[in-house]
Parts: sequence; C-alpha cells; structure tokens
Amino acid sequence: MSETVTLTIDGQSVSVPKGTNVLEAAKKLGIDISAFCYHPGLEIVAQCRQCLVSVEKNPKLQPSCQQVCGEGMVVHTTDHHSTLARKQQLEFTLVNHPIDCPICDQAGECRLQDYWLEHQGTKKRMRDEPIHKPKAVVFGPTIVYDAERCILCTRCVRVSEELAKDPVLSVRERGNLGEIVVAPGRQLDHPYTLMTEYVCPVGALTSIDFRFKARVWFLRQARTICTGCATGCNSFTDFDPRNQKAYRYRPRENLAVNKFWMCDDGMLDHRRIHEGRVLEARIAGKSATVPTALAKAAELLAKASPSSTAVVLSAEHSNEDNFALLSLAKALGITDVYQSARPAGQGDDILRHPDKNPNTAGIAALGRPSGLKSFVEFVEAIRAGKASTVIALGSATPTGGGAAALSDVKSLIAFSTHEGPFVERASVVLPASSWAEADGIFVNAKGMSQESEKAVTPQGSSKPAFRLIAELAALAGKPLAWKKLAELRAAMAPAVPRSVPPESASLGAE
Ligand code: SF4
Ligand code: SF4
Repeated sequence: MSETVTLTIDGQSVSVPKGTNVLEAAKKLGIDISAFCYHPGLEIVAQCRQCLVSVEKNPKLQPSCQQVCGEGMVVHTTDHHSTLARKQQLEFTLVNHPIDCPICDQAGECRLQDYWLEHQGTKKRMRDEPIHKPKAVVFGPTIVYDAERCILCTRCVRVSEELAKDPVLSVRERGNLGEIVVAPGRQLDHPYTLMTEYVCPVGALTSIDFRFKARVWFLRQARTICTGCATGCNSFTDFDPRNQKAYRYRPRENLAVNKFWMCDDGMLDHRRIHEGRVLEARIAGKSATVPTALAKAAELLAKASPSSTAVVLSAEHSNEDNFALLSLAKALGITDVYQSARPAGQGDDILRHPDKNPNTAGIAALGRPSGLKSFVEFVEAIRAGKASTVIALGSATPTGGGAAALSDVKSLIAFSTHEGPFVERASVVLPASSWAEADGIFVNAKGMSQESEKAVTPQGSSKPAFRLIAELAALAGKPLAWKKLAELRAAMAPAVPRSVPPESASLGAE
C-alpha cells in the first residue's frame, strides 16, 4: 500500500498518496482550483499561474499543480489573496484574447469561458487595440492554429515532446508577442497530432476533421472502445441525437489502457461509422429487404451439407456477433471455423498496435479449445472444394490476394458492416450494424475485455449481426438458446469471462 499524507484544504481534511500535488488533492474534495497549463499526463511547468493557492506558513502564493502535499499542510483556495491572484491572472490572460466565442469551435467546452464565469466575471477594462497575431495557420494535415486565441500554456508543445516523442512545436518570442510555431521545414504530422488539439484548453488549435461541423452542446456522448487496433483505447463517441451522426472521438481516461490519449488513426476512425457502409440487404448484388435476404440465406443453408460449409469469424466484430455465429455453426453441425481480420499495419511503443483489429484476442478465446483456423487455411479449403458454402462475418480480409478465392465459393452469406471483398462476392449480403450502433464487448491485446456502448441508432436497414444471425438460425429451423443481449452474454460468459480492468479514477484531464 502506498504511503499517504493528510492535509487540510479549505477546512476539509483529505488523505492522498505521497507525492500528490495540491491541485489533485483538491479535486478529491470536489474543489476545482482552475488551471490551464496543468495536465495530469504531462510534465508540470507551473507557467500559467492560474492555480495559485495560499499555503499556511508560506509567505508566497504557490502554484497548486507544483506544490506537493505535505503532512499537516493547511491550504486555502478561497482566501482573499489566492482568489484575487487567480482573478487577476485570468484578466491578464484575457487582455489580448479575442472575444469571438460565438464563432469559436471551443465554445461550450472552453476553459477560458468557464473560468471567466467562475473566477472573474468582470467586464474587459482594456480599451486599446489588442495585439494581433497570425490566424488560421495550417500546422499540418490535421491541425489549424489561431495564435490570437492561444494562451501559451504549452500543453501542445509537451504533447508533441513527451507523448509523440517528436518535439516539432515550440514557443517563439516572449510576453504578449509569444506564439506557437512548427519547427522549420516540418509540419505537425506525427501520429498523435490530434492530442495537441484535444489538450488545448481554448480554441487556438482546431482539428481540420471537426472544425465548424457541430456545436458541442448539441452532442451527446457514448462510452465506447476504439476499434482502430488491438490496443482498445477507451473513447467517447460524440454524436448528434437529432441526425444520429457521429462527429468525433475523444479519449476516455483509463490508466490501465490508454492513459489520457488516442492516436490520430483512432481519432479519425469515427468516419468509418458513416463511410463505405453496407446499409441494405442484397441478393446476387441486387437490393433486397432484410427478411427476403434472410429467407434466401436460409434456403441456401438448407441445400448445403455441413461438411462442405465453413464459418468465418471476424476480429473486427464484437464477442457477441462472433459468439452468435459460432452458436449457429454448432446448431447446424458445421465444424470448420476460420477467422478473418483487417490487414496488419504500423505500430509503435506508445499506443498503436500493429494488429488493426479490436477483437483478435476475443475470437481466439471463443475458438478454444479446438482453435480457429487461419484465413490462409480458409483460402486453401476453398481451393480444395471443401468450403462451397460459407457464412462470413466481417468486411475485410487480411490479405488482398486471398480475397480472390472467394469467387470460387458457391454460396457466400456475408454479415458485413462495410463494402469489401466478402460483400463484393456474396450471394446474400446482410447489413450488420457497426460497433457504434450496438453494445459490444471487445478483448484487447492485453486480454482485457471491455464493453463499448451503443452511440447512434443502426444506420439504414442494418441490425446488430448477432440479431441477424439469430433470425437466420430461427429460419433455418435451429433457433438459438438466447433472445436478448443479456441472455447471449450469460451464455457466452464461460467462453470469455469478463475481465474489465478497473477504470482509473478520473484525474479530470481535459
Ligand atoms: S495552442 Fe493551445 S495548447 Fe498550445 S500553447 Fe496555445 S493554448 Fe496552449
Ligand atoms: S492506438 Fe489503436 S485503439 Fe488506440 S486510438 Fe489508436 S487505433 Fe484506436
């Protein structure tokens, strides 16, 4: 057990692990001192001076982010001195800041707005023309910078240096002429550029992907898991309930998985919720209703022999979808079970995993004890005529080459979210809902099973694949033992026990 210290903040006693700073200790008591440059995932620089507090027996105000808690320490955050200091510091920060909140993308989630209301609230006294600085500077493929809105907290500089290990940003000039610049000859183009925008407490950095697309007060959040790779970063999916459209991902703090961060590939993966989707059922390439397509699929299965029928699970899909397909395979007496996945890609030692699938470990667990056969073996089986009927889940295949073999399958029933090799060659296509349209459990590369919440309603005629599979099983005369998601999960539990990592207590990173 870690050693603790006990101190008093605004008359309340609090015990925290040794080494905790006063700002974090205050959060435990529900006291938000206010700070711009402090971020729990970055080095402490104590340069914005917005978190000053009084510490008894210390003649000077102290930055609470840098002040380590001491045994018996007595801190005041609401006394005259510290309150005035924070108020004056805020006024100073706002001296040259444009008041263009109505057109600023950060409006609604801006620390300057919030703190002005909470800690200052007075009208601007400066009547001079403010200092003007560069606006709409394109820093790279993902980020635009407005120097006038920048409060020089250097969070973006530290994200580049400390998280991305690419010190591509720095501060030029001093005082009110200061601005953030990109290193000469470079662009802001490392794999974590969107984290600079994410940590920016004001509207100085905006993401090209999100700017001017939505007002944040219209958005709602679902607690999701990024499906961009096997790391399984915890995320929020921000969506507009009025048009059921997802607009962005944001990191959701989990110290055991992704700490406070996500990579750019993951952050931009929300686009796939709406792009390249299969929204209608198809029979032989022509549009059909879902019930007609299911009836056709049942007809194909009735004609097929289990010994020449194969099932393909997908590392792109949740445990629920894959478990449903495995259950159908068992009910139909099919023993050849293969796996498909998206092709491998680049990884790093920060977050990105070379396995670009969210649930490789999940389907491996479901496939035990006999194990799943590989996609290469699947292609060999097709070529050997041992898989003339195939029921496949997923949209992608691990290699381009193997996909051509799908043309040799006589009857291919595909449960897919997106266009791809399976859909292209399928006899019957059933439109499956994406990860954002259904609750689902994914097991990451560390073996942690994590639940992703439904954000938007199923797009087009799509339904969660596990529901479509259950309907097909019923039509094939082999109804599955469960009807509801909770029943499916109970049936699945022995195969994939839940091992949800304890979500870290929020450190309030924004
Ligand atoms: S751009 Fe944003 S994060 Fe970077 S220094 Fe300015 S205010 Fe801070
Ligand atoms: S590291 Fe993987 S799981 Fe995390 S945000 Fe990037 S793509 Fe998503």
